[in-house]
Amino acid sequence: MQLKRDTSDQLFEEAKKYFPGGVNSPVRAFKSVHGSPLFIHKGDKDRIYDEDGNEFIDFCCSWGPLIHGHNHPAIREAVAETIQHGLSFGTPTRSGVKIGQLITENHSYLDKVRFVCSGTEAVMSAIRLARGYTGKTKILKFEGCYHGHVDSLMVKAGSGLATFGISTSAGIPEALAQETLVLPLNDLAGVETLLAEHHEDLACIIIEPIPANNGLLIQDTSFLVWLRKLCDDYKILLIFDEVISGFRVGFEGAAGHYKVAPDLITFGKILGGGMPVGAFGGKAEIMDHVAPLGPVYQAGTLSANPVAIAAGIASLELCLQEGFYENLQLKTMDFVQRITEHTAAKGYDFSMQQIGSIFWLNFGKHRVITSDQINPEVNDLFKVLHLELLQKGIYLGPSGYEVGFISSAHTQESLDITVQAMCDSLDTLYR
Ligand SMILES: *Cc1c(COP(=O)(O)O)cnc(C)c1O
Repeated sequence: MQLKRDTSDQLFEEAKKYFPGGVNSPVRAFKSVHGSPLFIHKGDKDRIYDEDGNEFIDFCCSWGPLIHGHNHPAIREAVAETIQHGLSFGTPTRSGVKIGQLITENHSYLDKVRFVCSGTEAVMSAIRLARGYTGKTKILKFEGCYHGHVDSLMVKAGSGLATFGISTSAGIPEALAQETLVLPLNDLAGVETLLAEHHEDLACIIIEPIPANNGLLIQDTSFLVWLRKLCDDYKILLIFDEVISGFRVGFEGAAGHYKVAPDLITFGKILGGGMPVGAFGGKAEIMDHVAPLGPVYQAGTLSANPVAIAAGIASLELCLQEGFYENLQLKTMDFVQRITEHTAAKGYDFSMQQIGSIFWLNFGKHRVITSDQINPEVNDLFKVLHLELLQKGIYLGPSGYEVGFISSAHTQESLDITVQAMCDSLDTLYR
């Protein structure tokens, strides 16, 4: 079936006049898959609808925030109610207190938080805090972990970069890049050697505890436990970047999943229920170094604005309902299992990696935990699959390095349709 894309194509041509590459975020540009991007005008539950009248079952879910699917009535109504009274005051609000209480009381690893407007801003601020608190400058990150487009972290980062083959962005002073040390994930010997040499300069180690921006590189618990211990020994802060995993693999995210206590955690995506919200938080003793209590400056005109916070509260309250995460996880495991049973029976060089309600198509049979283990042909293979699936009414993020998400709005019927479509598309790909 040929997908109708005329209107999206036209809009994209128009968009290119106004925005670099026609988009406001690079992965949206469909550069690594066939065709131009689809212009979406409506989402409802597990479906999105484009300008040409096509309907898709959506597994991109706005890149992660929509754990309750599109247009959830509780979130929509909370926002609609709030906007009756104005959009922003630049003052503290009652709802701000409520969300602060909601996340710290239900999260064992958060004493205090500061709200910002994006994941990038959260990470940028957490890094500044780590430096301000420790009085040290260097940071250590891992290859394949994406931490937003923060200057000092644009070194060997996530999918957009892997996809476009840029190892680092232009416009970042070398002096700054030199403050960032990078090692492969799970490289215990490398971390040990590096700390022996640099621990006196190292402010923090930052990691996506569930790396999900460059494939889904699920780490061994022991690696994270070991990092925690090492950071304690050397008095280095451990930052978990949970912008994607926070409130996704459980209310306490990866920290709760692995039972490893980071010093600071960064959030975004799900926290805003689809609105632009981020936060960083952690131990009170460290957070109290943030202005106005402490010397680490951080501020935001629209931080914790009441509309975004209303969406966040409604979204988090749904997450806290009994059995919410268990159901999502079971649904996702079943989905993955049915596809991989088919591909294993056929002997395809394919598997899926999954944790909670996150999944990734691994074009290889073996578990992958570092970015260099990813099949270098992933995008060539994914490109074929992506188009096949679009034509069957299934929408995945437009890169083979991106993960997919299952939301509470995905129905059994939609998942059945998708399993069938995936199996058929994989048959076409490997035929
Ligand atoms: C998405 C993401 C970010 C960046 O968040 P933005 O809201 O896009 O700025 C940072 N870290 C991780 C782990 C992410 O997944």
